[in-house]
Amino acid sequence: MQAFQLVVLLSVFVRCCLCNGTLSLFGDYHREHLPVQLSLNESQEDGNLLLPFNTTRVSGSPEALGIQQFILDHFTTGLQNNWTVEQDNFQENGYNFTNLVFTLDTARSDANKNGTKYILFAAHYDTLVNPAGFIGAVDSAASCAILMYLAQFLDTLAYEDRELLQQTILGGEYGVKIVFFDGEEAIEEWTATDSIYGSRHLAAQWLEDGTMEQIELFVLLDLLGGATTKQVPRWKIKSYYKEAHRHYQQLSKIEDAYLADPATPFSKKELFPSDVLYMMMGRVLIEDDHVPFYNASVPILHLIPFPFPETWHTIGDTFDTLDEAEIQRWAVLLSEFAVDTMAGPQ
Ligand SMILES: [Zn+2]
Repeated sequence: MQAFQLVVLLSVFVRCCLCNGTLSLFGDYHREHLPVQLSLNESQEDGNLLLPFNTTRVSGSPEALGIQQFILDHFTTGLQNNWTVEQDNFQENGYNFTNLVFTLDTARSDANKNGTKYILFAAHYDTLVNPAGFIGAVDSAASCAILMYLAQFLDTLAYEDRELLQQTILGGEYGVKIVFFDGEEAIEEWTATDSIYGSRHLAAQWLEDGTMEQIELFVLLDLLGGATTKQVPRWKIKSYYKEAHRHYQQLSKIEDAYLADPATPFSKKELFPSDVLYMMMGRVLIEDDHVPFYNASVPILHLIPFPFPETWHTIGDTFDTLDEAEIQRWAVLLSEFAVDTMAGPQ
């Protein structure tokens, strides 16, 4: 009985903290924008960030170039703040690759920028060469669309709510970088040199120019948004790294608070901070774009279900298998998480 009462008290405390912090501020924003921007309804074309990804995106292909342009247009003409845009172009293994890197700086003056710490959010936009016609809906179209939504949310916040901005983003020392990696997939078979082309290239560059030291946390989205991910407990997004476990706990608290709000696209709990088995192993168990950053001692929050969805790397990974509510809940979670994290320790 005592233990039960303590749990109830703790959960009420957490909920109140969150309500006073971010939830009551941003719920209306999400209710207005999610149905338009992350919709699977084909009649909802205007402002839709998800449906344009319903295409193959093999590195260097015309379709990949089209998606690059779509992403670039979003940041350069669709948003209101001056995001720094970097295109990291390179060739390897006979392919052209392009990472897209977008930075929202928060320091009050340029002089402070060198001291800025960044939260990095990333996903990969390329798709497998084989099987031909592979769409990669969960791998990782949905994750890319979620990042674009996150950018728009932070941009609106930074542009429109100056008072809040002073208290959170501008008042702190954090900026945000959003990266769309190219060449995550192996061209033939996954090896250390035939995979994660884009993240290896960017990490090497950042180690050389000092940017790596400014990355406080790397949040990597992959295989999110599928209907099967909701079938807890088999497909679970676990806490994989102890260096970022407190951030996983933070996400879980935001999830708890939203579960208590019936007007949100949250139906059941998907994060389980007490499941620490993978984290305790203390090594990379799932290779992905985070590996070069993990090797550079950056804390990693890897948001990927394990086991992988059943359609993983099959021609069946199509938009038919996506779940709109699942995609939208991740957009909400990460939006709230970004603001919470950039506000710094409470
Ligand atoms: Zn893949």
